[in-house]
Amino acid sequence: MTKAEELVLLKRKMEEDLSLPLRTGATQLVFGEGSPDAKIYLLGEGPGYHEDKLGRPFVGMAGKLLDETLKEIGLERGNVYISNVVRFRPPENRDPEPEEIAAFQPYVDAEIKIISPEIIVTLGRFSMGKFLPNVKISAVHGKPFFVQFLGKEVLVIPMYHPAAALRRGEVLKDFKEDFKIIVKALNGEIISPNKTTKIPQLGLFD
Ligand code: URA
Repeated sequence: MTKAEELVLLKRKMEEDLSLPLRTGATQLVFGEGSPDAKIYLLGEGPGYHEDKLGRPFVGMAGKLLDETLKEIGLERGNVYISNVVRFRPPENRDPEPEEIAAFQPYVDAEIKIISPEIIVTLGRFSMGKFLPNVKISAVHGKPFFVQFLGKEVLVIPMYHPAAALRRGEVLKDFKEDFKIIVKALNGEIISPNKTTKIPQLGLFD
């Protein structure tokens, strides 16, 4: 089975899983999207108004900023994979509750396993908490962390949420600056302390 086929099956499984929270207030499931072969997996918080209506992640104002920032480092949405920790819109865009995040977790893990990215970029504190519990985003944003996840070492880079960047000028400045580390990671310039050699050059399009 191809990765794309595995993702179709995973989406269907989520659509049929009536135990998932937040479904009743939402228009539809918002599954991840992008290249199944992406080296970079971006993980946001949860769908907002526009995502709920269109059934696609990051298509509102925060999504426009994300697209623009990816472009500035030479990437398009089609080069990466974009997803969220919860997949139904929380009412009035409230923060997702820990039990809600936990209920979606097996699906997020399954999606990451299928994509098998080299780099995970977390957007905001809820997705950061999945890999880096007990840290403050203001202290770690834009810094690389090598994390053991599902039996594999993965480079996790926590970023501010683009919606936070839209609200505050200083955060926007950091958000744009922080994305430049992704280029360094793709160029093999971020080296795991567990490796004696550089990680291989990933290349944007291979
Ligand atoms: N904010 C998120 O965290 N995810 C989206 O898909 C849109 C806005």
